[in-house]
Amino acid sequence: MNIGVILNRVFRTQNNSLFEYISQQQNDIDQCYLIIPQEIFEEEGTEMKHNYYYGVLEKFLKELKKHDIEPFLIEYRELGDFCKEKQIEEVVVAGDIMSYHQESYDIRHLKQAFKKYDISVVTLRANHYFKPSTTMNKQGTPYKVFTSFYKAHRSSLRQHSAYDYKFKDIAKLCVKSQQTLNKDYSNDGLSEEQALNQWHDFLENDIQNYDSNREYLPEVLTSQLSIVLAYGLIDIKQIITELLESYEEDESNIEKFIRELMFREFYYVLMTQYPNTAHEAFNEKYRNIKWSYNKDDFKCWYEGKTGFPIIDAAMAELNKTGYMHNRMRMVVSQFLTKDLFIDWTWGEDYFRKKLIDFDSASNVHGWQWSASTGTDAVPYFRMFSPTRQSERFDKDALYIKKFIPELKDMTAKWLHEPLKHQSQLEKEGLKLGEDYPKPIVDHKSAREYVMSTFKSI
Ligand SMILES: Cc1cc2nc3c(=O)[nH]c(=O)nc-3n(C[C@H](O)[C@H](O)[C@H](O)COP(=O)(O)OP(=O)(O)OC[C@H]3O[C@@H](n4cnc5c(N)ncnc54)[C@H](O)[C@@H]3O)c2cc1C
Repeated sequence: MNIGVILNRVFRTQNNSLFEYISQQQNDIDQCYLIIPQEIFEEEGTEMKHNYYYGVLEKFLKELKKHDIEPFLIEYRELGDFCKEKQIEEVVVAGDIMSYHQESYDIRHLKQAFKKYDISVVTLRANHYFKPSTTMNKQGTPYKVFTSFYKAHRSSLRQHSAYDYKFKDIAKLCVKSQQTLNKDYSNDGLSEEQALNQWHDFLENDIQNYDSNREYLPEVLTSQLSIVLAYGLIDIKQIITELLESYEEDESNIEKFIRELMFREFYYVLMTQYPNTAHEAFNEKYRNIKWSYNKDDFKCWYEGKTGFPIIDAAMAELNKTGYMHNRMRMVVSQFLTKDLFIDWTWGEDYFRKKLIDFDSASNVHGWQWSASTGTDAVPYFRMFSPTRQSERFDKDALYIKKFIPELKDMTAKWLHEPLKHQSQLEKEGLKLGEDYPKPIVDHKSAREYVMSTFKSI
């Protein structure tokens, strides 16, 4: 039998269930076509993501080459024709990837595409810990409150032994493509080895202060595993195993960290069961909210020109680095959906274009959390004040100054609410409305509008 193995964002050589599958089935395989379906980033503003993706891919290809393996690089839309031409009867694919740049690459669409060609599809676990069907509550439906999900499934986490396969067995079966990428991406992305080093360094050092570091904005002191997981550079089972092995060294911080990884699983399960929530409110009650679609306000938000330094700094972080701190993701998403009352799907889509760690389940549910439309979301009356968030989490304005150079010489305490300190800022050489924008919205009035609108539903 000829099989096609689709390496869809499982860009790792170690602990890869797709390679294990080939090894286990080797006696039944005549020819194996390893296929990397290339993602296309056509929309404006996605250049950084494009380069990052191809940088990771280039490093993975290099690693495979060391094992004498050269996968085929095919566009998603050509997959069916390619497999038909090579007389492939079965394709094997990771069924649990949520980080595709386009929704049309996801497993539901892939299965449809292969059905048309009468090619059977085997799906494997590769990027999440749980199989959604094993996580349901007594009624057979998904848990909708995180703490219940966590309590029910935390005890299922256990240590796993490493996968066992030999690349020389796999290489013997694989047809070589002799294809390479047509551009040099060596300065972009992350390799599997770098990802492992970065993760082990975090596990040995920064995890010990995870609880406090998580809210520290001027530097990224969290794991950045979100990027690693978005490209499948390390298996989540390996991560959980290593966390449990180190558990006794610092139970409190390690448990907090595991809890966050469980959030990722929780949102993943919900997205697989309610894929419609990628585009509509999880809470049906809020499906008809009359959101604003003001393009000028939206532009100020994504360009970081709202006149709220903490918001503008966070958007500058995203636009410059393709990453944003979790705290700031919560703050800017609340600002867009509450202060500006703009439809959360606009913000969600902007994050998709920019975040190098984009994951549709975490992103959609993160946005719906902030918009108060999601399951287990923030209640609408707990609306964040950008000024208060700035004072609390960036007291010395180090984060603001890092990302907004025109504010770097100003006294920190004026920067949490510039309009109130206009004269002081002017004395220091900064004219609001000229050197830095005036706020585009009055938080107090926006708050009243949010309260009355949600209350009336
Ligand atoms: C509006 C909004 C959008 C978001 N979009 C994404 C996204 O597209 N991709 C993404 O991976 N995460 C997203 N998150 C979740 C979270 O912000 C990131 O996972 C986290 O900031 C990544 O940094 P880290 O890996 O250093 O996190 P760490 O603090 O080191 O956490 C470790 C891991 O736990 C998981 N995790 C942590 N916080 C969350 C969370 N709130 N929800 C789900 N999983 C979590 C991630 O896998 C993360 O890598 C979003 C959150 C919000 C509020």
